[in-house]
Amino acid sequence: SLQYIEEYRDASLARELVKKIKAVSHKKLRLMEVCGTHTMSIFRHGIRSVLPERITLLSGPGCPVCVTAQKDIDAFVALARVKNVIVTTFGDLMKVPGSGSTLALEKASGADVRMVYSISDAVAIARENKSKQVVFCAVGFETTIPTIAAGILMAIREKTDNFSIYSANKLTPPALTALMETDGVQIDGFILPGHVSVITGTHAYRDTFEKYNMPSVIAGFEPVDILNAILMLIRQNETGTPALENAYPRAVSDSGNVKAKQIMNQVFDICDASWRGIGHIPSSGMRLKKSYEKFNASIKFSMDMPEVPEPKGCACGQILMGLKTPEKCVLYKKKCTPMTPVGPCMVSSEGACAAFYRYS
Ligand code: SF4
Repeated sequence: SLQYIEEYRDASLARELVKKIKAVSHKKLRLMEVCGTHTMSIFRHGIRSVLPERITLLSGPGCPVCVTAQKDIDAFVALARVKNVIVTTFGDLMKVPGSGSTLALEKASGADVRMVYSISDAVAIARENKSKQVVFCAVGFETTIPTIAAGILMAIREKTDNFSIYSANKLTPPALTALMETDGVQIDGFILPGHVSVITGTHAYRDTFEKYNMPSVIAGFEPVDILNAILMLIRQNETGTPALENAYPRAVSDSGNVKAKQIMNQVFDICDASWRGIGHIPSSGMRLKKSYEKFNASIKFSMDMPEVPEPKGCACGQILMGLKTPEKCVLYKKKCTPMTPVGPCMVSSEGACAAFYRYS
């Protein structure tokens, strides 16, 4: 109910938390909000400005559009150029530049590219356009993947076989492991994503936590949730007791959403994936199982795009790993703005560069 939500926006609770943070914080700490939705919420509510200067918040790799490899964007563009193909996509992806074009540019020059809000909209378009092939650009994390799996099962049930997906789906815990293994990455704690954790459960982070002993707290998205998680991470650091804690128990359980995971694993296999600006991360992607191959657009249309280097000067990769902040990118606010984005971190509303641009 609204009242329930209001409680988590409560200003006096927030002030109380900020007071506590100031009281316990002594060390310089770099905390990473892994998820793009957290980045947005942190900026929207001015959370950075109420924290002591010692606390730096870094944006992580949890914006699905930002980490979609350029070769995958190139594949979406190539698909849009195939005769009789309708490409369906979430809106944020439209303007992301691949190596030569964007879906928005393809649409402007006559390709049939349609924005959808869910995969079931895409399946419906296929149902209504039987003489065409409809491809859905699947870009999401654990929160979205089960819905994509459900969309495939729906297409099977209703025998809509002019439908397929190009899967650039990604998994969160392997990205955290990859960050920990990257030279130069300095993080003192993870603010773990709330929505993703609803599906994965707390257990999904256990291995990474145990291997690296990194303070980790699962957080909701209200200012009070985020401040509370920050306080918990500061306490863990100050007392030298790293822990994996769940500060979002009203939505996240230890084992997560078992049914959603089942459907996801019924349709998809874990595979390696390449992340924009970060590179190859083992076991961090999901591709359709062999038995669902006829819904795999990359096989259906023989898409095998080469890896492409990042646009010159774009620091998205370093930003997604917490190695740089947007204003340190040489193109920021110059060549790269929300109207003329060079990299995906400026395109997506969840991207760190877009958030910086909008709020600072
Ligand atoms: Fe890339 Fe633009 Fe961000 Fe620079 S400001 S890192 S070019 S998206």
